[in-house]
Amino acid sequence: MDKLAASSKNTQSKCIVCGSERLKHFSRYNTAKETEGIFIGRRLVRCQSCSHIQIEPMFTEDELDQYYSQSKYWSEKHSDDRTHKLQSKAFSQIAYIESKTSLNDIERVLDIGAGYGRFFQELRALLPEREFKFTAVEGGPDAVTYLKETFDAKIHKSYKAVKGKFDLIVISHFMEHMSNPSELMRLISRSLTSSGVCFIEVPNKDYAYRKNLTPHISFFSPESLTHCSTNNGLKVVDITTAGTPLILLDRSNAPHIRLLRAAARFYEKILIGRLDQQYNEIFLNTLIKRSKMTERSTAVAGRDRYRLQALLKL
Ligand SMILES: [Zn+2]
Repeated sequence: MDKLAASSKNTQSKCIVCGSERLKHFSRYNTAKETEGIFIGRRLVRCQSCSHIQIEPMFTEDELDQYYSQSKYWSEKHSDDRTHKLQSKAFSQIAYIESKTSLNDIERVLDIGAGYGRFFQELRALLPEREFKFTAVEGGPDAVTYLKETFDAKIHKSYKAVKGKFDLIVISHFMEHMSNPSELMRLISRSLTSSGVCFIEVPNKDYAYRKNLTPHISFFSPESLTHCSTNNGLKVVDITTAGTPLILLDRSNAPHIRLLRAAARFYEKILIGRLDQQYNEIFLNTLIKRSKMTERSTAVAGRDRYRLQALLKL
C-alpha cells in the first residue's frame, strides 16, 4: 500500500464527478484472483468535496475499451439465462419512471447500454398502441443485430455518436463502468427535449458489500450522483434506493448483526415499501461502520442488488 500511495501522490488524480483533487485513501480495491490483471493492486479513494468513491489510479478510456473488448462481461450480463431477471428489472424501472412522471408524451427513447433491449420490450408491452422510436447505444454484435431486427432501433456504438433529442433516456448499470461520467451527463443535458426525462440506475455504495468489485470503477452515493447531475446542467426530479436492503445481504453471525437482520426481515414483512430509503440508509451506514470496508463485507449472488434510481430533467 505504501508503494501505491507514494506513486499515486505524484499523479494529478481528480474526482471524476466534481474535478476536485482532494482525494483521500478509502480502502483497498477487492478483486478476485482470476480477474484480469488490470484491476489488481488498485485502491479506492474518496473525494473530500462531493463524497464520490472511485478506483485509483483511474483507468483511461483506452484501457477500459481494451479491457471490455477482451472481456465477456457484457455478453454474460445480457445473456439469455438472465432474461427473466432483466425483464423484471426493466418492468420495475418503468414503474418507477411512471410513478414520477407521465409516459404520455414519450416517443423518442434512447437506451445507453441497451443489451438486448429489455427496457424497450417492457415499454412496448406496457403501451402497445404507441409508436416509439428506439435508439440504442450498444457494442455487442449479437445484441446489435437483435435490436435492429426486433425494435427497428437506430444503433450507435458509443454514446459520443448520439445525435438528436429524446423524450426519455435510460442508463442502467452503465455509469459505474465509466471513467468520465460527467461527459455522459453533458451529453444527456444536450440530448433531452425540454420536457424529457433521464432515468439512471447505478449500484448504491456496492463497495460495502461486494467481495469482487471488478469491473466497477466508480461507486455512487445519492450525494455524488446528485453532484454529477447538477454539475452538468441537470435537475434531480427524484432520487431513491431500491432492491434488497443491505442488512439482508449480510451473512455475518455477529449477534448485533443477527438482531438487525431479524428486525429488517420483520420490518420488510410488515412495512414493505414504506420508509424504504431512510431504512436502507440507516442499515447501510451501520454496515459500513461495522465492516470498515474489509473483506468481511458480504455479497449474495442472485438477489436483487441494492441500487440507486434517479430521474433527471433539464
Ligand atoms: Zn468529487
